[in-house]
Amino acid sequence: MSDQTVKSVNPATEVLIEEFSPFTDPMIDSAITKSDDCFTEWRKTSFERRAELMNKAADVLDQNAERYARQMTAEMGKPLSQAKAEVEKCAWVCRHYAEHAEEYLSDEPMESGGQKAYVRHLPLGPVLAVMPWNYPFWQVFRFAAPTLMAGNTGLLKHASNVWRSALNIEEVFREAGFPDGCFQTLLIGSGAVERIIEDRRVKAVTLTGSGPAGQSVAATAGKQLKPSLLELGGSDAFLIMPSADLEKALDTAVTARTQNNGQSCIAAKRFFVHADIFDTFKEGFEARFEALKVGAPMSDETDVGPLATGQIRDELAEQVEKSTQAGAKAFYAGAGLPEKGYWFDPAILYDAPDGSPSADEEMFGPVANVWKVDSLEDAIARANRSIYGLGSAIFTQDEDEMDVAIDQLEAGATFINAMTASDPRLPFGGIKQSGYGRELSADGIKAFVNRKTVYLA
Ligand code: NAP
Repeated sequence: MSDQTVKSVNPATEVLIEEFSPFTDPMIDSAITKSDDCFTEWRKTSFERRAELMNKAADVLDQNAERYARQMTAEMGKPLSQAKAEVEKCAWVCRHYAEHAEEYLSDEPMESGGQKAYVRHLPLGPVLAVMPWNYPFWQVFRFAAPTLMAGNTGLLKHASNVWRSALNIEEVFREAGFPDGCFQTLLIGSGAVERIIEDRRVKAVTLTGSGPAGQSVAATAGKQLKPSLLELGGSDAFLIMPSADLEKALDTAVTARTQNNGQSCIAAKRFFVHADIFDTFKEGFEARFEALKVGAPMSDETDVGPLATGQIRDELAEQVEKSTQAGAKAFYAGAGLPEKGYWFDPAILYDAPDGSPSADEEMFGPVANVWKVDSLEDAIARANRSIYGLGSAIFTQDEDEMDVAIDQLEAGATFINAMTASDPRLPFGGIKQSGYGRELSADGIKAFVNRKTVYLA
């Protein structure tokens, strides 16, 4: 743990917004004690009481949406309209679990030789959430709403570039009236995570972020025999077949690649386009990229803002350069970029060979990778070469093709004639190196409970 301050820097201007002092070890310890103490009472509260507070949290989000959204945009650069939509979605997930938690966690009757048998869902205790900066509010609320409704308490370690947003999230639960210690933000770097997972009072951990961070957290959790859930990177495939509504596919493809400045785990990152429609697709895709408004994220006109940090911008530039050196052909949107800030001109890379970053790695920014394919089988085979398996999408009107894609695409989700999106009502998560476990829906609230078997002779 370092004594150095942690800085929030506006990625659109490179201006320092705020500096924070990380928690000391005694502060971390006292937060864990508070979380544990709170749990002993919180676990006894009724679903009705929890729902009342969770609905209030949704109201606090609605009332402060503009302020919270502006803070997110200032800290990590997403267009303000998208930040506002994110706060609204957080209110939705709170209301969703306020309404459905009791039903999701109701006793499950089982057949048995006794008079009665069933599964009851009981909370585990304090749960640590290690979260990324790309959806500073949404990633946290999709963990917190189900986890608190299940009767657990929450400890948040947020990414080091969005600590004001992390404190705003703590404020939401405090203002809503949740008991002291029920949800706490810990201002800590990644170096402090291991010892928190090792603390016997912390019962489980969830991480949304990169593969290396996931491996580290999962290794510690494994050593401690504690449950973990990992939502990691992705390089989602987006397939476009000849029968697709091409205009819709094109509009969706551009949004799916560039929303959140291209920094979304479930962004479509690799496009496989059937040869019969390839030329029309290419023309429409490039025209739409050229029309993107890249600029100040606080402006309502903006489609694409800056990348969140200089390091992310530089890493993406290096991936593009290596891919073009390997043989990919690049098309740039040609956006005029401001001098200050971590800007990236949106780009399309065609026909990158296997082994290049374009084909093999996650590209976290507004760069689309496109290949021409001869058949659905060809598209699926190439899609499945990725180490990742988060979301996937196919545009087609052919029901047989839909079935083949559903059965054969290696991913945690397949969206048909739509882009992959998270929704409180649907399970969310990946396979392969995109992680394990599911968030949202009934699955999400059962992630951190003891499914206790009850048997009455
Ligand atoms: P990251 O560098 O892995 O950071 C994520 C979080 O993990 C941060 O809080 C970070 O703390 C912490 N962390 C980093 N290394 C750690 C370690 N060794 N031990 C413990 N904690 C550690 O990822 P990011 O750059 O913020 O986020 C982008 C990645 O997240 C992308 O790969 C994206 O696809 C993925 N993601 C996945 C989902 C999903 O649902 N599957 C959703 C969103 C994003 P510091 O900030 O203090 O380093």
